[in-house]
Amino acid sequence: MSNPSLTVNDGMVVSLVYTMRIEGDDEALNDGPVSVSYLHGESSLLPGLEETLYGMHAGEEKNVVLEPDEAFGDYDPDAFEMVPMSEFPGDVELETGMALELHDEETDEVYEAYIAEINDEGVLLDFNHPLAGETLHVHVRVTAVRPATPDELAHGHVHDEHEIHLN
Ligand code: ZN
Repeated sequence: MSNPSLTVNDGMVVSLVYTMRIEGDDEALNDGPVSVSYLHGESSLLPGLEETLYGMHAGEEKNVVLEPDEAFGDYDPDAFEMVPMSEFPGDVELETGMALELHDEETDEVYEAYIAEINDEGVLLDFNHPLAGETLHVHVRVTAVRPATPDELAHGHVHDEHEIHLN
């Protein structure tokens, strides 16, 4: 299992549970604590959360406040785009608040956007993350710390025992 003298550092596989809420809200964002295992130092977590975990060991817990730039970024008032209704497939029912994945054929990238408004001009898309601009309060408990295997370091991610990797 986990060696209690190991602390979180780059190249360690860290398991943790966290709960998160938006500043000013009493309710947590998830129904219960969320469990995560990740390879530290690969920017897998929110930047401010990964930063605060350095030096922690299994069993340790912490409350952290993440400003927007340490979490999902600042809210960008220019990250909106009006798309004519005719560009959407006719068989999709569009509603305000709906999340969409948009595939840009030129760059082959996938963007996530939210429908901010539907009006006569078309559909107003918001490319901000829904938690952009929010300050988050996170309670985190480290449950295990172990050195990553050479394969995990080479791939930049955690391999759990149920995962099969083909070469
Ligand atoms: Zn892998």
